Amino acid sequence: MELWIQPCAPCADLYGQPSAVRPHDTLALVGAGAVKDAQVAQRYTCTRCGAAFARILKGEPRKQVWVLLNAGQH
Ligand SMILES: [Zn+2]
Repeated sequence: MELWIQPCAPCADLYGQPSAVRPHDTLALVGAGAVKDAQVAQRYTCTRCGAAFARILKGEPRKQVWVLLNAGQH
């Protein structure tokens, strides 16, 4: 089973950006309203490349960024 994906260009750009940056068109919010920590982090999946993101909304400012959860290291 292939767990690691190759992010598309918008996803590669978004990785590490502040969470205030808006998601691009192919990012779909996952489990809106169903996640009990939704005010802390939102989960998104890219419909183009399959990348899974966590958008961290609380905590230390330097940690409030877009985190790519399933990309390989390059
Ligand atoms: Zn993508």
